[in-house]
Amino acid sequence: MTSDQEIYHCLIDQDAFNMVDGAFLHELDPYIQQMIQADHPEAKKDSFICSEHLVAYRLRKLNQMIHEDQHENKAINDKMTKTLSNDDYQIIDVSKKLEKTLTFGQRIADGVARFGGSWTFVISFVVIMVGWIILNVTHLFGSNFDPFPFILLNLFLSMVAAIQAPLVMMSQNRASSYDRMESQNDYHVNLKSEEEIRMLHYKVDHLIQEDQPNTMQIQKMQMEMLASINEQLSILMAEKEARDAQKTEQQ
Ligand SMILES: [Zn+2]
Repeated sequence: MTSDQEIYHCLIDQDAFNMVDGAFLHELDPYIQQMIQADHPEAKKDSFICSEHLVAYRLRKLNQMIHEDQHENKAINDKMTKTLSNDDYQIIDVSKKLEKTLTFGQRIADGVARFGGSWTFVISFVVIMVGWIILNVTHLFGSNFDPFPFILLNLFLSMVAAIQAPLVMMSQNRASSYDRMESQNDYHVNLKSEEEIRMLHYKVDHLIQEDQPNTMQIQKMQMEMLASINEQLSILMAEKEARDAQKTEQQ
């Protein structure tokens, strides 16, 4: 180094340095200043610290930030795992469960309700009634077993209606117990989703409020280091040029 540059002493080991080989405390970020002042209470705003020691402090700060982030992330993940494992509700396979408990009578009720509520039933019923009436009015095939006003047909119709009504009700009861189980499932799924969304909010908040600023801080630190390297490099280049010029002069 050329002798016309001023010499500064590193506040940590009192070694002598040029101004470009370090920085003054007031040039540094407040958190680095605080760290240095915590270790060396005698340090003042205009104290000088060499690049080597400064890098060590920056690395220490980086490690601290990374450690804190990891710690916080782990805490959030633990919390999430705990919350999710607390809910041990098993989703019921409703169709399977109902299928298992189905009795023979209920199967028949289901079948009747299905057939009774179809167009096939309505059309075939109309066809049978009309056929019955035509048969008895026109004396087709020479028989009229149920003359007007078709009392036997009336009896059959009321019997069908009387039997069909309770069968349909049975089937409806089963449908409502199916719905009840389904809504229980839905309720638990909703609860779980709500919990997960809450956790996600928590994670995203953490990401935005802590992780991101920390990353920016780390980037800032990297930029500062790059800038100081750049500064040193340009000084070295200038010195080299000066030396080269001196050589050519001497030759
Ligand atoms: Zn030093």
